[in-house]
Amino acid sequence: MEKVDLKNYSLKELESFLEGLGEKKFRGKQIFQWIHKGVMTIDEMTNLSKELRVKIKEKAYIGNLKVENVLISKIDGTRKYLFVLEDGNIIESVLMRYEHGNTVCVSCQVGCRMGCTFCASTLEGVVRNLTAGEILDQVISIQRDIGDRVSNVVLMGSGEPLDNYDEILKFLSLVNHSEGLNIGLRSITISTCGIVPKMMDLADRKLQITLAISLHAPNDALRSTMMPVNRKYPIEELLKACKYYVDKTGRRITFEYALIRDVNDSESHALELARRMKGILSHINLIPLNKVDEREYESAQLDRVRKFQGVLKKHGVEATIRRELGSDINAACGQLRRRYLKGQESK
Ligand code: SAH
Repeated sequence: MEKVDLKNYSLKELESFLEGLGEKKFRGKQIFQWIHKGVMTIDEMTNLSKELRVKIKEKAYIGNLKVENVLISKIDGTRKYLFVLEDGNIIESVLMRYEHGNTVCVSCQVGCRMGCTFCASTLEGVVRNLTAGEILDQVISIQRDIGDRVSNVVLMGSGEPLDNYDEILKFLSLVNHSEGLNIGLRSITISTCGIVPKMMDLADRKLQITLAISLHAPNDALRSTMMPVNRKYPIEELLKACKYYVDKTGRRITFEYALIRDVNDSESHALELARRMKGILSHINLIPLNKVDEREYESAQLDRVRKFQGVLKKHGVEATIRRELGSDINAACGQLRRRYLKGQESK
């Protein structure tokens, strides 16, 4: 029988696992606490007897990410991690240090199958979904590495969270658990390219997370050339789902708009965007595109970014220009993993 990864278990699952071994339920809670404290082996769980540890190890293990490489920004302390999963796959995560605390950006899939034309994560499609435990372990491993608490999590690394929906829901309940990391749902952001049915389902759950939508274009003709998902769920449907989300949760939605030179960065694009945002409780993040080597897109010039923001403001739409962190270790989403894999190939 294949051994199970206890890091991927909820408290309830751990309790019934222990009961299945003929043990008391409270042992499940002890193990849950150890794992979420960052312990990497069952032998480190010193309040369990040796016999019990042996018994557990016959059936289970604790899956751990291994740090393959860390790049640390000399400018602002941003850290980019390359992790190796138990099966040898590679993922990346980022730690951003703000005055109000540590934010970790996690990946939710190995690769991505959404096909956005400006993004590096999707260049070779998706390899597999991450488990809830593997998503959580990105946070746990980074806490261990820096010896400090992580206060915020953004699901903005590689992969599409709503394409790995069940594991994401489980991840939320793990990371939010009072016996675990206890990170508040209000401190968690999920970013999606706009998988409408899953957005509706999420809205019905009325979680207090922040939802971020990768919009990047104000009309269907343009958005469909950049994001294949738009052919399935065009902007009007997407915005309807956003309104539904706001109605159900009372939470403001964040829209992400990566500015690409001569593609989506003109004043008329800004005007069109402002019109579309009418009546939605929203905030827009303007992000100068991160140049991806394999793509021909260039980043918009800063004066265009400022003008774009000006037009939005004039029409009553709140927009901030996202401060670039870790510019000296810059590798756009998914780039780090790609470079690493390429390096391996040429070895
Ligand atoms: N799949 C999810 C989350 C992962 S990407 C989503 O689509 O939202 C996180 C954010 O980075 C998204 O807004 C994505 O569109 C954006 N992004 C991807 N490649 C980028 C690039 N080269 N420059 C700037 N932003 C990029």
